Amino acid sequence: MAVKTISPTDDFSAVSPVASGGDYLTYRVLPEPDVFIHTSGGARIPAHTSILASVSPVLENMIDQPRKHRSSERIIPIHGVPCEAVTAFVGFLYCSRCTEEQMEMYGMHLLTLSHVYSVPQLKQRCIKALAERLTIENVVDMLQLARLCNAPDLYIKCMKLLTNHFKSVEATEGWKFLQRYDPWLELDILRFMDEDESRKKKSRRQREEQRLYIELSEAMECLEHICTEGCTDVGPYGVELRKEKKPCSKFSTCRGLQLLIKHFATCNKRMNGGCLRCKRMWQLFRLHSSICQQTDSCKVPLCREIQMKMQQQEKRKEDPRWKLLERKVASARALSALSLPKRKRDEGIRVTMNNYGIRSFNFK
Ligand SMILES: [Zn+2]
Ligand SMILES: [Zn+2]
Ligand SMILES: [Zn+2]
Repeated sequence: MAVKTISPTDDFSAVSPVASGGDYLTYRVLPEPDVFIHTSGGARIPAHTSILASVSPVLENMIDQPRKHRSSERIIPIHGVPCEAVTAFVGFLYCSRCTEEQMEMYGMHLLTLSHVYSVPQLKQRCIKALAERLTIENVVDMLQLARLCNAPDLYIKCMKLLTNHFKSVEATEGWKFLQRYDPWLELDILRFMDEDESRKKKSRRQREEQRLYIELSEAMECLEHICTEGCTDVGPYGVELRKEKKPCSKFSTCRGLQLLIKHFATCNKRMNGGCLRCKRMWQLFRLHSSICQQTDSCKVPLCREIQMKMQQQEKRKEDPRWKLLERKVASARALSALSLPKRKRDEGIRVTMNNYGIRSFNFK
């Protein structure tokens, strides 16, 4: 059922175009209007109780109330919003449509009406339209409206815009008004912004950790590759180094590691003497042997020795931080062995491991 134009002076008993399955419209004559909607501006919009009641349970309830005089005219007052907004609202009840202009002009009023009179299709339409029209200037009003009309989607959108442009929103009249008259909402907003900040920090931290595990797993691969087949500068005894050949695919990591191994082999301070580079190398050896699956045939130096030492230590006490690191690196390694795209890295590997008591790892 559709009515072409609706204005306070329109009579809905006029002909109403009704689609009848085909391309053409047939015209159905509506009965005489049996109710008038009164607006704040003094307009009387004629309407049909059957239609109003079928779309809005709240209006249905009002229509069902017994009247004082059966002969008196049935009236529904809709006050507090402009006439044109009521007209657009009644129009929607008849034909489930409203124009973009009506949305532009009266979207906020229509949302209120759809909420108060329980018309979910109109409410959804308004939420969508208002969300598209959010600005720094209107976001505070919109937020208050979204809360009043129980529109969580719109509420969250407002909160996000507010969070991302807080400095500008703070300068608006809407914000000043809110601070003065709605301190609870202000508190809600500040809390949301705070939580948003910690959410962002947490995911940043997780991303950094994940990168660390992937880098360590790459370092583990390089360590094995240097110790079994050798790379440009370092390799096992009896294996010809590929000095003349192309460097391996992970060369930026591999080269840093080779330098570290060379240093470890010749440094006379060693870790007990307080050499940081040796300490790093030792930690990489230890990490390797804790995830190494092939102790018997493994060519990485110290692999077996460290494993035996760890077994003895485990009997005494386990270090949960190392256990976690081993698990994470092993799973990052399994993932990268599957299908991770190759990441380009031009600089030497640099890793922070605050959680493991290691401040920074730099193979250079
Ligand atoms: Zn290599
Ligand atoms: Zn050293
Ligand atoms: Zn090993």
